[in-house]
This record gives sequence, structure tokens and C-alpha cells, in this order.
Amino acid sequence: MLNDILEHNKRFLASTTLPQIGHAPRKHTAIITCMDCRLVTTFEQALGLERGDVLELRTAGATISKPDRAHANNDLIRSLAGGIYLLGVRRVIVVGHTECGLSKVNPAALTGTMQALGVDPEQLIQKEGLGDINGLVEWIGAFTDVHLNVQEVVNVIRNSPFLPKNLPVDGLIINIQTGALTPVSQPTQTTA
Ligand SMILES: [Zn+2]
Repeated sequence: MLNDILEHNKRFLASTTLPQIGHAPRKHTAIITCMDCRLVTTFEQALGLERGDVLELRTAGATISKPDRAHANNDLIRSLAGGIYLLGVRRVIVVGHTECGLSKVNPAALTGTMQALGVDPEQLIQKEGLGDINGLVEWIGAFTDVHLNVQEVVNVIRNSPFLPKNLPVDGLIINIQTGALTPVSQPTQTTA
């Protein structure tokens, strides 16, 4: 795979010259979505996004895991803070998707794969103070309802003390099969 990438890159450089643009997103927007491989390229096409338009932040599940929600302070919040205070972002959109892997985490499959790859789930749960298997499942960011989860993440971002109070934060669901977008959150009351 790595060699394929490097070979492709040579051909890419031979055929393409990218315009020089700055690192501040011209649409002043940060968009959070999932790492799902079916979103590669399709995500930008479905939303009409071009290079330089927005900051794209991806986490497994487009989520902030439950243990990280209490203080609204994790790498995703730090990235948003950087985008807002350093790069001119003034709007955030959270985009969950249908058929998300994190909406159907099977605890037995999770721990089985961990064991097969040499990680002892029980030992990890004890050492990291996760409580039990449910704590491990929450730690990885699992959820049951993607609509509810996007709304919760929107609320965590809206209420984070690290971010501006009136930051517009909205939620969407993208249908992974068709690219159709559906709003899920109460729209931010703003004219921006
Ligand atoms: Zn996903």
C-alpha cells in the first residue's frame, strides 16, 4: 500500500501543479465528520467543498466519546479552538452518517479482536479505570442512535468553556449510500 501511494504521488506531481493558497478556510467553517472510508472524496462532493474551503476534522463516529464530554476538553475541542482562534473559523457543523461502525459496536467482537491482537481487555479496563466492558465500549466512542449522538456532540461543543459562547454549531446526518444530507440539530439562531 505504501509503495502504491508513493508511485501514485510521482504521477500526481508530474501532472498536477496546485495553486498556492493560505491555511485559513475561506468559508470560515470547521466540519467534523467520521473516518468512514466511504466518505473519502464523496463527502466533499456531496457538500460542495473545494480545497481551501473548510477545516475538516475526523474522528471515529464524528463523536466525542462519553468520558471526554464532561469537561468538553479533548483533541477535537482543541482542534476547534485552533481553528477558531488561529484560523478565523466562525461556524461548526457536525456531520454523522448512517450505518456508522460506532453505532453498532459488538462488545464481544471488540474484546475478541483486541485479544487476537495481543491486548488484554480485562487488564486494560482495570489499569485505565474503565469499570467494566461497558466502560470500554464508551471509551471507544460507541453510540446507539446517530441522530441523538450528533445532537449531543453539537451540545457539548456549544457548551464548551474553551469555545466562544455564541459560536453557531449545527448537526447533519449524511446518508452513506446516497450522500443525502438531513439536519438533525435545532438550527443555531443566527443570521451568520
Ligand atoms: Zn462512522
